[in-house]
Amino acid sequence: MEMVKQMEISDKEKDDVRTLIKFVGIFCREHHNGAKTTFSFKRFDIREIEKKETSLCPDCTRLLTYGLAIRVKCPHDPKPMCKKCDNQCYHGEYKAKIREVMKFSGMYLVKHGRLDMLYHYLR
Ligand SMILES: [Zn+2]
Repeated sequence: MEMVKQMEISDKEKDDVRTLIKFVGIFCREHHNGAKTTFSFKRFDIREIEKKETSLCPDCTRLLTYGLAIRVKCPHDPKPMCKKCDNQCYHGEYKAKIREVMKFSGMYLVKHGRLDMLYHYLR
């Protein structure tokens, strides 16, 4: 029995979490071959939010874990767009990496006609 207390998260947070998972998932699928494991996050149930499993390489797992931890710690309500925020939560290599992921996956979604997903990115 898992004893970690799961967080209650709002619908807006679920949207953001889903977007992050999707973006990192696309990036990993298109860039990284090799061993991947099903992503899970101890603070809340990913399967309840995303409905399907996402497999990631170790690097992307680290990035997504970091991104989700930051998202649920955001002190602002409502959350502004990260790039317009004074609190620059992402540091160092993660900052460069998440930018690369957002740019790549954003373009990927445009090319594949998924503007509905992009809406979340642009908010
Ligand atoms: Zn990867």
